[in-house]
Amino acid sequence: MTEELLAEASAQSPHEWRPARFMVIAAHPDDADFGPAATAARWIDQGSEGWLVCCTSGDQGGEDPDMDPLELAAIREREQRAAADVVGYKGVTFLHMPDGALVNDLILREHLVREIRTFKPDAVLATDPENTFPRGAGVNHTDHRAAGWAAVDAVYPAARNPMAFPALARGGLGKHVVRRLYLFWTHRPNAYVDISSTVARKLAALRCHASQIQDFTEVEQWIAEWSSGQGKEVGVANADSFYHVVIDDDETPEPAEAAEQAATVEA
Ligand SMILES: [Zn+2]
Repeated sequence: MTEELLAEASAQSPHEWRPARFMVIAAHPDDADFGPAATAARWIDQGSEGWLVCCTSGDQGGEDPDMDPLELAAIREREQRAAADVVGYKGVTFLHMPDGALVNDLILREHLVREIRTFKPDAVLATDPENTFPRGAGVNHTDHRAAGWAAVDAVYPAARNPMAFPALARGGLGKHVVRRLYLFWTHRPNAYVDISSTVARKLAALRCHASQIQDFTEVEQWIAEWSSGQGKEVGVANADSFYHVVIDDDETPEPAEAAEQAATVEA
């Protein structure tokens, strides 16, 4: 089957694979809720465990130049923790990197590798870093792109390479293999998750971000329009769409298991 036909066939039904453990990596408080909150809520309802990592605390997310950025960061962390409770995450980590100045460097990647090796997710959800000019929506924030690249680079190869950031491994955080990536806010969706049962939870989570949303009716209309549009692609009422990357499928053993199997065969 050609790649085009495969894409066409898979786009006809909702995406059903579900990670037992997943991590959402976002640049700002509220990204995860404008992003994949309904998918996260659905997976959690089905028995998955989720963890949220916010690279920044959104200390530049306002219109008032006299506002104390640390005060704003504290407000936004409170809002994000409340929203995370609505979605059902096990917890939230704030990395306290500077808002508006996020860089995909070794410092950020080491923080993310530490989070990944601690929580051990099967899948990581992050912003699609290649979507610089979303259709009809101007420019995608530099922090979204930086967080997306850092998440991808932390997943592969760093988190699974025991020699990357050796101090982590020596401190007890050995390598961890993340099998799949789900990149949201993408211009090239290839997986649609049915969120008909949880789109209301996404809205409830968004309501927690009072400092960021002036007109909630407008947000509600926009989310309804967008998620029903994505749903149409796979014949359900509402869907989230992702660029889904399988790094290792479920049948692929982890490198250590593969080495063991090879040794058994040789013996
Ligand atoms: Zn953002």
